[in-house]
Amino acid sequence: MAFDPAREIQDFLVFGEFGDVNPSICDSSTYTFLSVERMEELFDHEVEGCFLYSRHWNPTNRYLAEALARMEAGEAAQVMASGMAAISTTLLAVCSAGDEIVSARTIYGGTYALLKNLLPRFGITTRFVDIGDMDAVAAAMTARTRVLYCESMSNPLLEVADIEKLAGIAQRRGIQLVVDNTFCPLMLSPLRLGADVVLHSMTKYINGTSDCVAGCVVSTRDFVHRLNDVNCGPSMLFGPVLDSVRAAGILKNLHSLHVRMKRHGANAAFLAQRLADAGRPVHYPGLAAHPQHALLTRAMNPGFGYGGMMTVDVGDRETASRFMTLMQERKVGYLAVSLGYFKTLFSAPGQSTSSEIPAEDRHRMGMGDGLVRFSVGLDNDIEDTWRRIASCLEDVTAARLDGRPDGDGVAPTRP
Ligand code: PLP
Repeated sequence: MAFDPAREIQDFLVFGEFGDVNPSICDSSTYTFLSVERMEELFDHEVEGCFLYSRHWNPTNRYLAEALARMEAGEAAQVMASGMAAISTTLLAVCSAGDEIVSARTIYGGTYALLKNLLPRFGITTRFVDIGDMDAVAAAMTARTRVLYCESMSNPLLEVADIEKLAGIAQRRGIQLVVDNTFCPLMLSPLRLGADVVLHSMTKYINGTSDCVAGCVVSTRDFVHRLNDVNCGPSMLFGPVLDSVRAAGILKNLHSLHVRMKRHGANAAFLAQRLADAGRPVHYPGLAAHPQHALLTRAMNPGFGYGGMMTVDVGDRETASRFMTLMQERKVGYLAVSLGYFKTLFSAPGQSTSSEIPAEDRHRMGMGDGLVRFSVGLDNDIEDTWRRIASCLEDVTAARLDGRPDGDGVAPTRP
């Protein structure tokens, strides 16, 4: 039977302290011991069911980590206070000064800045490549390369990585393939496709309510131990701990992730098709015209759709700004960064989440200034949403053509 990550989550049952259906939230930073010997033992190695200090492990965080490990078909997971904490601690667990990373060039702007600006200060350098060009990926490797890094679906260009092929290259080289699966929870299972480490910004789809920042790493037990080691684990020693109250909230939301992903995907597919029919330059992996549509269809777990992210290019920066302002006025959603929220969010990556990438590099990658990224929400009446988007597009396009002011003539208000 095919792997079903939603069934893995559903089968994860935890009984609370009093038989509560939601496990009790651990409200302690430290834990008592009945003997000094037991405490010493725990400093030395992990003991099942015993906790020492909440920066190390916490029962509530452990429940969430176990559910995530099941979802991603990994042995173990570690939850953290942000997606960036998951990325930076993972890279620092693998790389030392003098080591190199080969990374996809189209990645989230914060990750790009980490690789380009911050890690070189610690002697870790990165070569950015077109991840779709396997010859370029192989050619970028040197004897010092330790990590091949990519996003399963890139932010914001929605390029889909061929994880199986990349895993083949990484395995031949004996290096780690690290995949950020933030855009594709449930849809793609990178570890099953050969990746060594998979990580998420749980701030996005996994939590789904845009009320906290969180991240996770899923891999082998050994790798999670390396993150957590009391003597040299980057997670243990940099300390990006997720608060247990947040972990409990995310675990509850994780149980509705399958329903949300299907709806995000169905709504995004509907809007993308309408935009394509209207002749707009839309990018959505569920459209047959998307360059990696066939690859994604082959690699994905069936039944969760093609994701809730899409982009449309409206030509230039000014038109993109007017388009988004109008969409917020007409209650399509919010002009905001981030994604995976139940309402639609839109932003222009060149001016926001990818602004860390120099303009000429952005343009070379195909990220024009008129590109608008949508995280499509859970709208009940997506046809009505389409009518609103279409009216905004018509108005800004007409205004662009004849130079008149667009919009309703009212000042933008908060929807
Ligand atoms: N990975 C991707 C693909 C992202 O889009 C983001 C944030 O937008 C991150 C990682 C960073 O996550 P966080 O903001 O939770 O640190």
